[in-house]
Amino acid sequence: MSLFTDIRRLFMLSCEDVNDFIVEYLDGTLDDRTRRRFEKHIANCPACSTYLDQYRETVTLVKEEADADVPEPPEELVDATLDFLRQHYDDAAKNGAS
Ligand SMILES: [Zn+2]
Repeated sequence: MSLFTDIRRLFMLSCEDVNDFIVEYLDGTLDDRTRRRFEKHIANCPACSTYLDQYRETVTLVKEEADADVPEPPEELVDATLDFLRQHYDDAAKNGAS
């Protein structure tokens, strides 16, 4: 390994490093120096930038799902409501036509 490579490694993260650090980065537990290097790599590497976006999106979706303690309305209720509305509008249409 050349001195140049050593120095480069001090300042640059590889895509693999980014992969390793992504969880800590999103958790906010990376130390400042590593976080800056991480962000620098992301800014210069479209592949990792896309990867980070997708990773973040997935994490957000999973979190939202976990946070949503409001259950989906039961299917019967949805059907009943739609039936009621359909009936209501049918009647209204009929009344209007007569
Ligand atoms: Zn990269």
